[in-house]
Amino acid sequence: MDRAALRAALRARYPWLDATELGPRAVEAGECDRCTSEARLVETCGPSAWRYLGRSCADALGPEAWCEGHGEDAVAYLTWLAALPAEADDVARLWWVATGEVRVDPSLRERMENLQLPHAER
Ligand SMILES: [Zn+2]
Ligand SMILES: [Zn+2]
Repeated sequence: MDRAALRAALRARYPWLDATELGPRAVEAGECDRCTSEARLVETCGPSAWRYLGRSCADALGPEAWCEGHGEDAVAYLTWLAALPAEADDVARLWWVATGEVRVDPSLRERMENLQLPHAER
């Protein structure tokens, strides 16, 4: 497989992948700590029990998931997350495949077809 080609294709199509403070590059690859069924896209600092959150949980918790000192950052993060396209979770998972952090699974293979991205074999 050509992971570099997949990374390049993903970045060309989803420029938000260039962000390093949040998004798939800012977290350890995996599912949301709170619901375990959405891609992790942001790290909290704060009083909540969950370190990494996906979009819907971050939205549900709001700025409370961060400490008061990071309240402004939290609002910026939440705004950024809300602007992501619907398929962002799968894009994040594909990013981790492209970086070698996770292996591709059948559901992602289908998503790759839909996005017409270069194929990544395992
Ligand atoms: Zn969640
Ligand atoms: Zn904080």
